[in-house]
Amino acid sequence: MLPVIGITCAQDGETGRAYLNRPYYAGVERAGGLPVLLPPLNSDEGVRAAFALLDGLLLSGGGDLDPVYFGQEPRPGTGEIMPERDAFEMALTGMALDAELPVLGICRGMQVLNVAAGGSLWQDIAESGVSLLKHVQDAPRWHPTHTINVEAGSRLGDILGTQHVRVNSLHHQAVREPAGRFKVVARTGDGIIEAIEGSGSAFVLGVQFHPEWLWERQPVFLNLFAALVEAARLYRNARR
Ligand code: MN
Repeated sequence: MLPVIGITCAQDGETGRAYLNRPYYAGVERAGGLPVLLPPLNSDEGVRAAFALLDGLLLSGGGDLDPVYFGQEPRPGTGEIMPERDAFEMALTGMALDAELPVLGICRGMQVLNVAAGGSLWQDIAESGVSLLKHVQDAPRWHPTHTINVEAGSRLGDILGTQHVRVNSLHHQAVREPAGRFKVVARTGDGIIEAIEGSGSAFVLGVQFHPEWLWERQPVFLNLFAALVEAARLYRNARR
């Protein structure tokens, strides 16, 4: 049986419609996993039942996390907040980290990972004046627009097979203080954190860029999905 990879959905602010862009689930399928879309669930029982189904978790991109989760009041640069999605993802991510379920966080998903583990975010990197580069690109989503420098010997470095790679950039927030359980494994030249990973043996990886929009043209980025699926296969075999 294929490893089951839960993927959290975005949510429309007006209608509550839960949705997911195609290249997330297509990437998981291409990498040999079974993608299962997860809408925001509101009950503890629902969250636990969803968690029990999973061999791996993909936290997708989307709007901003409520800064209350990292102990801040909202600054003007914070965008739309979806409370049901926030609550669901924070609960599910906490369970995943405790159980060492394999997790890949993409963009917002990396930020959720960091905050669920006790880290903080820049609410708006332009407003904060901490970045010299353009992180909200005016280019097609599949087009890499800035370079990241990847730590030698990191899991991400092994997955991508390089220490310098150009990626897309579609974020206005970023990890500020990484949680203690994470190490920073990639930055842009202006110092913005572009990837974090767990310092233990469990597969926990967050990337600020969007590999789902890159993999069809640059197959090396499918390696991120393949690494999640392989870790999920090992998790499943160890557990059952
Ligand atoms: Mn960026």
